Amino acid sequence: MHLSRRVRNLKPSSTLAVNAAAGRLRAEGRDVIAFGAGEPDFETPDNIKQAAIEALGRGETHYMPVPGPATARQAIADKLSGENAIACGPDDIVITVGGKHALYLVFQCLLDAGEGQEVVVPTPAWVSYRPMIELAGGTVVEVPGSVNNDFKITPEQLADAITDHTVAVIFNSPSNPCGTMYSPDELRALADVLAIHDHVTIITDEIYEKLIYGGIDHLSLASLEAIADRVITINGLSKAYAMTGWRIGYVCAPGGDPPLARSIAKLQGQMTTNITSFCYPAIVEALTKSEPSVEKMRLAFSERAGLMHGLLEAIPDIQCPRPTGAFYVFPDVSAYYGKQTPAGCRIDDSVSFATALLEDAGVGVVPGEDFGACSSGHVRLSFACSPEQITEGCRRLREWLQKLS
Ligand code: PMP
Repeated sequence: MHLSRRVRNLKPSSTLAVNAAAGRLRAEGRDVIAFGAGEPDFETPDNIKQAAIEALGRGETHYMPVPGPATARQAIADKLSGENAIACGPDDIVITVGGKHALYLVFQCLLDAGEGQEVVVPTPAWVSYRPMIELAGGTVVEVPGSVNNDFKITPEQLADAITDHTVAVIFNSPSNPCGTMYSPDELRALADVLAIHDHVTIITDEIYEKLIYGGIDHLSLASLEAIADRVITINGLSKAYAMTGWRIGYVCAPGGDPPLARSIAKLQGQMTTNITSFCYPAIVEALTKSEPSVEKMRLAFSERAGLMHGLLEAIPDIQCPRPTGAFYVFPDVSAYYGKQTPAGCRIDDSVSFATALLEDAGVGVVPGEDFGACSSGHVRLSFACSPEQITEGCRRLREWLQKLS
């Protein structure tokens, strides 16, 4: 059977691959501690589940308007204007199959193939940005952040990366995989650069906005007037409400002529139509009546962030910025490259590091490689697991490192 070049050239997700490898070892009866998870280990709050169950009972099982019904889009617009100071209304919102598909649709709407169009991506960055941009025909321009600056890029770096070919820049704060976030002042300084480059569209992936621990406030780039009409905000319910399996995301795109939101909906109309119909009332319930549950989960993540960071910092030669958002840490482990395991396996990069660590010690981490060219000295660990697992997994990691020679 013929397979398109597009799919042949597509790399499978490395984060999913690690989870699959950990699953295989578990199936063989091994005791595996998986730090690979990109999702909360909590249950969706009951009131949110109930809203969907009731909608199902009412027979809300038919096709819906492609961007979502007005009630759900209004709840999202109210959240964005109330909490994030974004000037928007329900017509600017499209509800999508996860934040992932929101991003996919946006890149498909913004980019043309074969025209040398560039998207600036501060790295380390989530593994799916590059394939999505390339599938849409764009070219990724990586701007590396430094571990010494919590992986954040500077306004000077941003200015240097923007060319006449730049179509868009994407920000993700708090960040997967970095576990760090920009302060409002740092974002304002980046926005000052963007304000003078009015050919650039700004995509901001704010999916981790509610999971913050370091006392830094979250600022939405779309609240900054000088650039607001060029900002596309991506968010969703997966992370903050422990709803990864529901597949609910959304995009807010108040700008564009014709309105970008309408183009995104046109494309979604030829791809997935609406999301699962009886999930819409759950969106309203989540956004309007679930703050106590979100806060409870945030506090638990906050404790785990401190626990994992402390344990990693205590390991010699590991450099690990303090997590201030999302549920990841992204330590620099490259001081151990060039060493060998007792079984004679050489650790050369983050892939051999992660593979040997899983095999030898039963600890699953995600190799840094796919998060950007600057990331090969790092591995990603998720602390979306119990404090006991964090303690035991870090103990195993420490002991395994001590045995390298
Ligand atoms: N953006 C980032 C940075 C993510 O880490 C993820 C999930 N791993 C998403 C978007 C997409 O999440 P979902 O499709 O579940 O909304």
